[in-house]
Amino acid sequence: MDDAEKSRKKLEWLNSKWTQPRICPICNSTSWSVDQYSAAVPLWQASTLTLSPIYPLTSIHCNVCGYTMFFNDVIMGLSEPANIEPKKEGSEPKKEEAK
Ligand SMILES: [Zn+2]
Repeated sequence: MDDAEKSRKKLEWLNSKWTQPRICPICNSTSWSVDQYSAAVPLWQASTLTLSPIYPLTSIHCNVCGYTMFFNDVIMGLSEPANIEPKKEGSEPKKEEAK
């Protein structure tokens, strides 16, 4: 997928999902820009003190105050899921399930 197609898909996805008024929660502006390139956030494995694969995110920023939102590129259909090795048993704290 080239940059032009990726930009088109980002706008298409956002227009289909962002149906609420597009008002910045910080400055009340309605002027936004979708950044062409994805941001990359390394996933942190606290149990092993190592960095894991990069997580791709699409960023959108307010053109007035710079407030920035991030959307998951995998959910947006722009990237493949990260190839994370299965965790060893007991390496992650157990999450409590809601009852
Ligand atoms: Zn703003």
